[in-house]
Amino acid sequence: MKRKGELHLTKKRISAKEKERTQRIIEALNQEYTIEYRSFLIAETPWQLLIATILSAQCTDERVNLVTKDLFQKYRSLEDFANADQTELERDIHSTGFYRNKAKNIIACAKQLIELHNSEVPNDIDALTKLAGVGRKTANVIRGNVYKEPSIVVDTHVKRISKRLGFTKEEDPVKIEFELMDRLPREQWILYNLQIITHGRSICTARNPKCEECFLKEDCVYYNTQKKKIERKAPPKVEGKALSKVEKNTFSKVEKNAFSKVEKNAFSKVEKNAFSKVEKNTFST
Ligand code: SF4
Repeated sequence: MKRKGELHLTKKRISAKEKERTQRIIEALNQEYTIEYRSFLIAETPWQLLIATILSAQCTDERVNLVTKDLFQKYRSLEDFANADQTELERDIHSTGFYRNKAKNIIACAKQLIELHNSEVPNDIDALTKLAGVGRKTANVIRGNVYKEPSIVVDTHVKRISKRLGFTKEEDPVKIEFELMDRLPREQWILYNLQIITHGRSICTARNPKCEECFLKEDCVYYNTQKKKIERKAPPKVEGKALSKVEKNTFSKVEKNAFSKVEKNAFSKVEKNAFSKVEKNTFST
């Protein structure tokens, strides 16, 4: 039965080959990274985790952990947050960014938890997303970390790397979440986020991912298309022979356009000749 607020997106068919590729990626992630549920945010209670997650929007977990270390000493209960002076709370959380909105939401959220949920953090996605400052991402953090309810948190790492792996082409985090739910087995949903965050921080960084040392490269769509394409079109080293001006220009143009489809037709006759001339030299060395 359709629940209020529940999203229904068209289920995408995943081919047997894609299922096998997904399974290989999951096995590699499980082998390389944690298979333990854990949170990168430090909190002792569900409501502390909820507040820490609200603070983590557009902020690193390290910064949030630094701030909450003192914050949870000063505000020791939900009531303390509900009765907080907004300007003072803004000062206390200033370094996490967007502090005005965050302070306003934290106070409102604490009040809602006290008045509507008997000071408990609900585990239902609809109830969670009705709380001030709580979107699907925050709600899924709580469901996964506190209640161990299978849920996929789509943060910046999950979005970027899921696209590179070819698991989704979507931009909208909610659509990505649903595509990942269709693709990944339920028991992997919570782990996927934890593992992908670690992968995104160490190897598959936003800029200059370290594809050559990545254990997923054989099954990665980005690597097998864009990366190899760049390698193929990178300026070859022609030993013992300096490149002419036209040849140099040609290669930098190829590099610049490596991701577009235009380059095939874009070269002038002179450039085309220059490229094939050096190509010939390269392959004969
Ligand atoms: S091969 Fe490159 S793009 Fe693909 S997951 Fe690894 S680091 Fe990321």
